[in-house]
Amino acid sequence: MLVFLLLPWVKIGGAQAILLDIPARRFTIFGVQFWAHDGPLLFLIFASFAVALILVTSIWGRVWCGYACPQTVFVEGLFRTLERWIEGPAPARKLLDKAPWTADKVAKRSLKYVAFFVATLVVTHSFLAYFVGKDQVLDMVFRPPAENMTSFIFVVALTAVLYFNFAWFREQFCIILCPYGRLQSALFDSSTMIVGYKEARGDCIQCKKCVNVCPTGIDIRDGVQLECIACTACMDACDSIMEKINKPKGLIAYTSEQELAGVPVKKLRPRTLAYGLVLLGVLSAFSVILSLRKEINVEVIKTELQTKSSPTDLSIFQYTLEIANQTAVPKKLRLEAQANDLELIAAVNPVTIPPGRIQRVDFFLRLQDNRLSLPEGRLRLHVEGEHRTLEVSLTP
Ligand code: SF4
Ligand code: SF4
Repeated sequence: MLVFLLLPWVKIGGAQAILLDIPARRFTIFGVQFWAHDGPLLFLIFASFAVALILVTSIWGRVWCGYACPQTVFVEGLFRTLERWIEGPAPARKLLDKAPWTADKVAKRSLKYVAFFVATLVVTHSFLAYFVGKDQVLDMVFRPPAENMTSFIFVVALTAVLYFNFAWFREQFCIILCPYGRLQSALFDSSTMIVGYKEARGDCIQCKKCVNVCPTGIDIRDGVQLECIACTACMDACDSIMEKINKPKGLIAYTSEQELAGVPVKKLRPRTLAYGLVLLGVLSAFSVILSLRKEINVEVIKTELQTKSSPTDLSIFQYTLEIANQTAVPKKLRLEAQANDLELIAAVNPVTIPPGRIQRVDFFLRLQDNRLSLPEGRLRLHVEGEHRTLEVSLTP
């Protein structure tokens, strides 16, 4: 939750740590700018997440669901916590559900739903900050909605959907809608870590505490089920019972089907090895493409002989450069021709290229010679303040 809420406030290299500017087709991810033409890199980022998730699932089961999925993290960490503070633990909440509408019940329910609404607004505005920037969000909050109608409609719609989800729908999302949940049977094998019930111990006293705390309403004693999101609530509940009856904890614990059957668990299996190799391949491809990518890309896109005057032995060539600043900060470049008898004439020099922009820059080269062919040599672009020089050939 902290990572999600604080990331829009963190700046790396002068830009917001993660900014997904969809209208400009420009994505800033931890100081690196990706543009529309960086599609392959973005694909590899998402592919590495997907393959890493598959690898983690095949070894540790649904740890993503229990510890990292925003749905579980926000429902358990924020909304159920608020609910517990206002209405008390699960049994007290169930009694309140059945109780008549007294002033106390009205006050508790109103406070709970107002708290849910405020928490949802914080989540939706933080989410918007990933797309428009946190400064823009802060600015929008203090302006009339009509000035930013698209963002306003987006926030209203998202608030409505998330409020419904966090206040009521909750784990039904995991069971009914989540596509990752549906993939579990394909990703699991008998060595995968699961939350399991050790029936062979014979210590269950049928108190049903594990069933009562389960957010998806299942009985883990019936075996592995699609609905189990590995939240471990049943483990904690059962451990508290085991403590009270002086039995060892862990009647419900992290285990695997093989361990439950008394078979030794193989850590390294062909499936995990294969997923690991695919992940290594994707990460290697990403690193290679990223290392070949230039922060500032310069291309000569037009050269032409502008004038030639024979009495004075003078030729003037016009050049047009296309300079792409693929960083998150402005870049100031000073142009300099590196060849004898060449004089560089530019309306503006140095030129400043704003972050994430492609800019065309025109300049002339005056040559003390009335030749018709393009002058040989190189153009140097000094990046001011960085002791860095880029070079492009004058005869492309
Ligand atoms: S909490 Fe433990 S003892 Fe109680 S019903 Fe569940 S498994 Fe049995
Ligand atoms: S069975 Fe246990 S781990 Fe699985 S969802 Fe229910 S409470 Fe969570």
